Amino acid sequence: MLTSNEVKEMLINIADMYIEKKEELSKYDSVIGDGDHGITMARGAKAAKEKLISMEEGTCREYFKAYGRTLVSTLGGAIGPLFGSIFIELSKACKGTETFDINELSDGIIDAEIKVCDLGGAKVGDKTMVDAIHPTAEALLKSKEAGDDLKAAIKKAVEAANLGVQATIPLIAKRGRSKYLQEKAIGHQDAGATSFYYFIKEMDKYINR
Ligand code: ADP
Ligand code: MG
Repeated sequence: MLTSNEVKEMLINIADMYIEKKEELSKYDSVIGDGDHGITMARGAKAAKEKLISMEEGTCREYFKAYGRTLVSTLGGAIGPLFGSIFIELSKACKGTETFDINELSDGIIDAEIKVCDLGGAKVGDKTMVDAIHPTAEALLKSKEAGDDLKAAIKKAVEAANLGVQATIPLIAKRGRSKYLQEKAIGHQDAGATSFYYFIKEMDKYINR
């Protein structure tokens, strides 16, 4: 279980991680996309970190919402609303609680998958972040039903997200690309799926610190 101050600290760590992984994440996007994914995530992270630091006090709900809203408002294109909705759904899952625990984590990620699929229209196997979100949501639902605590649940979630990223490697990219570019993606992991995996991995690093 995390307090609201711990959630804030964890979100700042997540922002620092995206700033650090700027080049690596852009590299994954450069094979098939325009090579800006890491730059975009780092720009959003920098703005979100500033916003979080400026908040003197807040609830778990407000801290997740601050990160998500900042992504939506500072990032153009589809990625702002898509990635922002992950934080916003986690925020909604914290409604009425002072702490962040297994139920908030699992409900938030399960709802994030629904929201991302709704917004972007991608399905599992289209080589997008959904390929990492889906197995993570499944693992978290299992953990919740099995009565795992937050530490155990996030550990299993990291493994599931990693497998989801690995599964994108042999896939053709389906969303908004020419046939030539779709096939060029084979053999490379998806950038957005990798970003989601790093998000879960950074949460695990904090929760199991
Ligand atoms: P852009 O495609 O606008 O340049 P980014 O490079 O920041 O945005 O992000 C690319 C990532 O966004 C992809 O690797 C993929 O995971 C994700 N993505 C793209 N389109 C969708 C979609 N419709 N649904 C879910 N995720 C998507
Ligand atoms: Mg891009």
